[in-house]
Amino acid sequence: MSQGSAPLETPVGELRGVGSERVAQLARLEIQTVSDLLLHRPRRYEDRRHFKAIAELQLNEAATTRGKIVAAGLKRWGGGSKSVFEFILEDGSARLHCRWWNLPFMEKYFKVGDDVLVYGKLNSAKPRTIDHPETEVVEVGEDVSIHLNRVVPVYPATEGLPQRWLRSLIARTVEEFEAKIPEPPFGKGLKDLPGLAHAIRLLHSPEEIADTEIARRRLAFDELVDLQIAIQTRRKRLEANSRGLPCAGNNQLIRKFLAQLGFQLTTAQTKVLREIRADMGAAQPMRRLLQGDVGSGKTVVAASTALMALESGFDVALMAPTEILAEQHFRNFRKWFSELGISVELLTGSIKTNSASALRPHSATLFVGTHALIENAFAPKKLGLVVIDEQHKFGVAQREKLLRKGVFPHLLVMTATPIPRTLGLTIYGDLDISVIDQLPAGRAKIKTFVRAEEKLPKVWEFIREKISEGRQAFIVYPRVEEADEKSGIKAVTKEFEKLQKTFAPHRVGLLHGKLRSEEKDQVMEAFRANKVQVLLATSVIEVGIDVPNATVMLIENADQFGLAQLHQLRGRIGRGAENSFCILIASAKNVEASERLRVLEETSDGFRIAEEDLKLRGAGELVGQQQSGLPPFQFADFQRDRELVERTRSIVGESLKIK
Ligand code: ADP
Ligand code: MG
Repeated sequence: MSQGSAPLETPVGELRGVGSERVAQLARLEIQTVSDLLLHRPRRYEDRRHFKAIAELQLNEAATTRGKIVAAGLKRWGGGSKSVFEFILEDGSARLHCRWWNLPFMEKYFKVGDDVLVYGKLNSAKPRTIDHPETEVVEVGEDVSIHLNRVVPVYPATEGLPQRWLRSLIARTVEEFEAKIPEPPFGKGLKDLPGLAHAIRLLHSPEEIADTEIARRRLAFDELVDLQIAIQTRRKRLEANSRGLPCAGNNQLIRKFLAQLGFQLTTAQTKVLREIRADMGAAQPMRRLLQGDVGSGKTVVAASTALMALESGFDVALMAPTEILAEQHFRNFRKWFSELGISVELLTGSIKTNSASALRPHSATLFVGTHALIENAFAPKKLGLVVIDEQHKFGVAQREKLLRKGVFPHLLVMTATPIPRTLGLTIYGDLDISVIDQLPAGRAKIKTFVRAEEKLPKVWEFIREKISEGRQAFIVYPRVEEADEKSGIKAVTKEFEKLQKTFAPHRVGLLHGKLRSEEKDQVMEAFRANKVQVLLATSVIEVGIDVPNATVMLIENADQFGLAQLHQLRGRIGRGAENSFCILIASAKNVEASERLRVLEETSDGFRIAEEDLKLRGAGELVGQQQSGLPPFQFADFQRDRELVERTRSIVGESLKIK
């Protein structure tokens, strides 16, 4: 609603009754203009046509009640540092005690005889008491039609800004500006949603609670349209301004590479490579997301893609989120590529590139690294392709920075986090998507169990048995050092000694993000070589690690992790031909958490798991709020607004095509 709507850009300070102090308070709520005010979303609504009688209030059930203050007083103790302010409310049915601890100034706001609305949950029934309720004093002579006898919005507020003042201001502003709210172009002709002006009225003065959802949906629509415009114009601009580097290659190296690989590509891998090859030879740079569940074989696809650029004479940069993973890729690619005469270099925080290579005449090089690749020191001569592994661990800004090391190089980003389609269409809306929807044949099954902590000794016994059969195991804890005794959250460094004893004479290695790089390397190396049978680690092993002989994964305090993250962790096993076992330990006390974890027992479908996570924890958790470049929506919600995401995407797409 920002374009061409000048009256709505009026600063709030110009509204009647809004002085400089109020302007400052509103600014704290990010309200600067009339438009901001009109879009200030109520935190909740209260049906003030019916109040609960005090006698009907239930323990732990939020409700609004109304009565008169019959007594009030402040008690102090501890030399005045501690206090409780209390008033007693009476409505003819019963009395209610309302208390505020250590907020002595609350005394100023109430006096005996006041007519007060109280919202909260009883925390004791004898006497009926609510601690720290929300309250509103009904003022004599104020505009009752705004605050009473209807469905009333309750806004996010800030210190010193009374709810009723804000509500009155917004109500007045809606009256004054409603007719001046222009209908944005994409809003015209929507059959199932109200016009913008009407939606804003419903947001602040709904007739019924159901109206508030109608308003929310319409405002979500506008947010999603804005997002789609941003995404889609970015892509259009790229297409207009850039020319694709000729990186499709001649198949020479790839053919050799695939011949020495020792397995056949899956149908899905081949299909994806065909899509990529078309992009690498196209008039515009590739911008492609490769999605494939853990273990689906994305690395080989990345290698083949890299070879297309390398055999075309261009450099390639492959970025991974952890040193451990960069190291592993380096190892694999060097093994694969040295026979092809391609040089491979590693760049991490602890290993800088060999500066001598800058002096040699240019020969196409693959640079593998962590975010060290983003730093200035890295300056490839002829960057043709950027590959980002585990893309969800990086921000959009980091991706762009690496791309700027070349002149519109091709981009392949890879992720195993299965993003539900609606979310993918938005955060990855400027990328084409390829999916590897099949695992290589011959993979053994992973069985997953959720168990209570009391079962740990049995689990250890099971692990010992597997080790005797020649297998290896991961054990994962949420923390590095700071165990949380009270909540029982375990830290690897604390448990290390204990587990060494538990598994003796087998050997246990310790791996976490705070170790020095050499130490990490040593541990990983020992684990790969089966010199260490149990790897005790934090979630640093979440991404990428590939040790096919490891067939057991034990995750303690599993409820501390998101489902998608657990699925990733679980992807570290089941990589060989042996059956694999994932054991999730959750506190028996936390029934809800164990229930949530059952999804992992039931399915290995990454998409279903991600959907479940999205439902439980929201989009920000799933993709990393800042990482994702997602704007903070006020109204839109990926779970509820799937249909709107699809719709706005195609509406905006159509309109950009026409232009
Ligand atoms: P992810 O997609 O999780 O990155 P990787 O690329 O690490 O998976 O592959 C997992 C394992 O599967 C590796 O050991 C890899 O060598 C192997 N692999 C990849 N593609 C195939 C295939 N077509 N057939 C058999 N094994 C494969
Ligand atoms: Mg991988």
